[in-house]
Amino acid sequence: MNLHEYQGKELLNSFGVRIQRGIVANNHKKAVEAAKQLATETGTDWWIVKAQIHAGGRGKGGGVKLAKSLDEVSTISENIIGMMLKTPQTPPQGKKVNQVLIAEDVYYPGENEPEEYYMSVLLNRATGRNMVMYSTEGGMDIEGVAEKTPHLIFTEEIDPLIGLQPFQARKIAFNLGLSGGALKEMIKFVTSLYTAFVKSDASLFEINPVLKTSDNKILAVDSKVVIDDSALFRHKDLAQLRDLREENEIEVEANAAGLNYVDLDGNVGCMVNGAGLAMSTMDLIKQSGGEPANFLDVGGTADAKRVETAFRIILKDPNVKAILVNIFGGIVRCDRVAQGIIDAYKNMGDAIKIPIIVRLQGTNAKEAKELIDASGLDVISATEFQEAADKVKEVLK
Ligand code: GDP
Ligand code: MN
Repeated sequence: MNLHEYQGKELLNSFGVRIQRGIVANNHKKAVEAAKQLATETGTDWWIVKAQIHAGGRGKGGGVKLAKSLDEVSTISENIIGMMLKTPQTPPQGKKVNQVLIAEDVYYPGENEPEEYYMSVLLNRATGRNMVMYSTEGGMDIEGVAEKTPHLIFTEEIDPLIGLQPFQARKIAFNLGLSGGALKEMIKFVTSLYTAFVKSDASLFEINPVLKTSDNKILAVDSKVVIDDSALFRHKDLAQLRDLREENEIEVEANAAGLNYVDLDGNVGCMVNGAGLAMSTMDLIKQSGGEPANFLDVGGTADAKRVETAFRIILKDPNVKAILVNIFGGIVRCDRVAQGIIDAYKNMGDAIKIPIIVRLQGTNAKEAKELIDASGLDVISATEFQEAADKVKEVLK
């Protein structure tokens, strides 16, 4: 589950990580109130207005703007709230901005120039350990740094038993070229950041930029936080932060119906029981020249009601031109599933206008095929896996 920047920063702050302070607002009047309150609390007289969407690259897309007066806070917020913000990470049509974060300006001039660093915490799947990834080259183009000058990105792996050690925190701060008060601040920053990561069961923290202010404070200016969905049951407070407006509508609906569904770009809808079979079904569709439109694991109880829900969800995707149902009857009997498919099809009246290819294999597969063939419905049955994929290919032509 992704958090918004403002939610991620509040989470970090609750673990003692210093952040650029801000207040979220969903209209320009509240934005001005937020700016006034920040002025009182922090003494700032400039603000930065930041679109809150689940995508990075907002700066490049015009979703992050500096305001030098309350009037500017008002007009900038009015422009940004409600806009379809396009960034390199959004879908082509952009994402609708529902709220802005009004934050204190932390790039004020002083004895030094402000410096932007990059820091993330994530799992290294190759070693099975968390690592801190960091670079002096923070700011808006870390992807470019990773591509052109990867040697400027450092990693520090962390032993899961003993956690981030003080010498590691010091090494990170030294490698970032820090000394004196800023070095001490960075040690505290990375130590509390790592604690926050572990305690909140996060799968990704990305703080870009981490800023050294002109008066040597270290703070998080941005935050990308992803919490492991499988751990949300023990983080009720974090689970509440979910913003469904930011998520794929069909996936939200499928999850609410207890279906394991992932939306994809192709044209062949898949309804499969078991995640492994679902993956191989997607592979076979691709090998036969089609493109899967989704991953869908209907689970063990593929009864009429569940099959109907699954059909309705698959059909919400306008790109779907055919549906492949691939069920292995192990615990569930194929004839039951076949009856479920027939009932669902009939229940749906004329909602199904595209070809459906059904492959049922396992217990009572023969009876199942007979049921489908005798149903008189526009359903194509197949016995072998490859045969099913070939039939999909045929109907797509
Ligand atoms: P992203 O583009 O979605 O990653 O959004 P960020 O939160 O990283 O902000 C983009 C850029 O806005 C940063 O890299 C900074 O250069 C700039 N920025 C952020 N906060 C401030 C601020 O307080 N003052 C000024 N002048 N610029 C800021
Ligand atoms: Mn950023």
